[in-house]
Amino acid sequence: MGQLAETREFLASLIAKYSAFFDIIKGDTLPANIAFPLLKACGPARWSYAQRSHDASTIHPFSVQFDSMVLGAACAIIGVDNSLDFEILANLPSSCGGLGLTPYRFDGDDEAGRAELISRLSPAATRTREAADPGTWLNGKAWLGSAADFKSALLVRVGAFADIKRPVRCPGCAFRLSKDGAYDHAQGCANWKGYGPTHRHTSIVHRTANLCRAAGFDVSTEVVVGKEGETIDIIAIDNNGDEHWFDVTVCAVTAKSRRNKAFTQNERAATERKRKTYETLALAHDATLTTLFMSHRGVLGAATRALCATLDELREWTDGQGNSAERIISNTCIAASARIVRKAARFVQAQPDLPAAPADAAEAPDGAYQEEEAASPAVAPPDPDAVNTAPAEL
Ligand SMILES: [Zn+2]
Repeated sequence: MGQLAETREFLASLIAKYSAFFDIIKGDTLPANIAFPLLKACGPARWSYAQRSHDASTIHPFSVQFDSMVLGAACAIIGVDNSLDFEILANLPSSCGGLGLTPYRFDGDDEAGRAELISRLSPAATRTREAADPGTWLNGKAWLGSAADFKSALLVRVGAFADIKRPVRCPGCAFRLSKDGAYDHAQGCANWKGYGPTHRHTSIVHRTANLCRAAGFDVSTEVVVGKEGETIDIIAIDNNGDEHWFDVTVCAVTAKSRRNKAFTQNERAATERKRKTYETLALAHDATLTTLFMSHRGVLGAATRALCATLDELREWTDGQGNSAERIISNTCIAASARIVRKAARFVQAQPDLPAAPADAAEAPDGAYQEEEAASPAVAPPDPDAVNTAPAEL
């Protein structure tokens, strides 16, 4: 037997050996928040040595097989069909909005390779990628939700929820939701009851309050501070007796408004609004006011990151896994947002078709982003035939 034939036989045997690992990982015995991080940590790495120790033309057909085993396992864990968009998003590093499953069949690891991959994404997948968080939760270490939340967050990340085929009406505010606006709307509509933005806000407040307690602050939540019922999410008193007021603001930035307003502009605007509402009260209580701003995808604003850094310095105990405060808060947010999408998807699938929109139905007004506290149950139902992607900011 020639040397090349022997090499090929060896590589084929490696593929057979590794396929057992992928079969186990894609079976239904492991929950997604265990299976996916395992795939990410131990899947692609298996081929690294083989790839480096053989010449490109010999190993290429085997690398193609190996990559397809990785992608097949990812599809099975997440519960999606393979597609070109999925392959690209799976292969891109998590810092680029992908899943971080390094490919071997081509060079997608350098900057030029990545740019080439990104250029082949469909417009919908491009939007999905651009909206993605940095993906630190993908290794599962900091995951603070359920296995179902993790799976939903993976589905959001690969754009599986991006497209519904027909418009539906929001069960909370009766807005007619365009076919690509329903999930964005669910992220911002406090009238859509259940595991909605209000629940997400509460989860983040409680998680942050616990981090403050672990850092030695004396902490109260949901404290009424004004005569008009103004409420502060978290009041934390430090060792010097200084009082800190923290207002949690989660901003559901929709695809529409994202084009118009950068994250920092949104953060500045929210901080300014909170300052107007609470500054006088804070002065009267001799307290400092901080707006803890974040996007619904768990991207944290500057003041939130600064508080997290302080908490990490002060915390006497950790969550046992060494997670930073930043990761804990971000992951709490991502898990809650994934839950909102999962619930909205179940609703959308169960809806009957709506009659066609009137020909003169205009695009929804912009300002398509809102904070959960902003929505009031007293809002009058809008014109039921108005087309909207998200409620207007109140
Ligand atoms: Zn609504």
